[in-house]
Amino acid sequence: MEALKAYEIPITSLHIGTHTFDYVVKNDFLKAFEAQYDQGQFEVNIRFEKKHSMLEIDFEINGHIETDCDRCMEVIKLPISNSRSLIFKFAEEAREEEEIVYLKHGQTEVNLAKFIYEFIMLAVPLRKVKDCESEDYKDCNQKILDVLDEVSIEEEKEESALSKALKEINLNQNK
Ligand SMILES: [Zn+2]
Repeated sequence: MEALKAYEIPITSLHIGTHTFDYVVKNDFLKAFEAQYDQGQFEVNIRFEKKHSMLEIDFEINGHIETDCDRCMEVIKLPISNSRSLIFKFAEEAREEEEIVYLKHGQTEVNLAKFIYEFIMLAVPLRKVKDCESEDYKDCNQKILDVLDEVSIEEEKEESALSKALKEINLNQNK
């Protein structure tokens, strides 16, 4: 797990106060977790507040994964961002709750990689499409998008023809 070594924070030797850690997450990180999406890049900015009895950690994650677009099937760079906060406290036994992580008394370091990975994956949308028409970097397959547009215009026409016909039937019935 060499790729994840850099994410280990020596919590006991940090002084009380605020610390920041900035990382660039790349493919080797995602591969270390055998992620479903193992191509991508993220900037991760961590604000680490050490207090006497606990640690407060804010994660700010911005980047993209590479995935097939659900709309045009092309490989796209899908933007992903997430901001999350966690509180670390010490307890007799290590366990995790929603936003509180209990570390076992005497634990001297904590590796943040697992949390960063979870926050990235939680932010991946179910439907992976990109609104790339409005961006400079257009990675969708424009030809396929054009065809899809035509199909939906045709469907709209059919729909309005249908509702017009229904209206006429109604009008005739009311006569
Ligand atoms: Zn697309």
